[in-house]
Amino acid sequence: MTNIFAEIVNKRLPAEIVFENDHLLAIKDKYPQAPVHLLIMPKKSYPNLQSVPKEDLWIMGEIVACAQALAEEFNVAGDYRLLTNNGHDAGQTIFHLHFHLIGGKRLGPMA
Ligand code: AMP
Repeated sequence: MTNIFAEIVNKRLPAEIVFENDHLLAIKDKYPQAPVHLLIMPKKSYPNLQSVPKEDLWIMGEIVACAQALAEEFNVAGDYRLLTNNGHDAGQTIFHLHFHLIGGKRLGPMA
């Protein structure tokens, strides 16, 4: 199923790319909630975290390593939040798995 992030991964829509390799793409969030608000996503389409099959869970390690590197690059390594919204009620609006890396200000409570 196509969606904005699948289109960005396939370079059919523009985005501010901050990292890319064979498996991952990271972009700046178009509507940032904090001075640093990045989105890290696998290129392969999974609707959300719950739909990643066990044999593909290695991608989570790549995502975390990418988050660590970007946190350093964007000078928020000491204080940031890495989260994914899984499902409508959790706040998910785009159904291509992605992790928000948010920092650069004091963050509020979770829910
Ligand atoms: P979620 O609500 O967890 O699915 O997150 C979707 C995120 O995508 C939100 O933080 C939006 O601000 C962001 N967003 C929506 N459209 C775009 C876009 N074209 N490029 C980059 N980020 C986007």
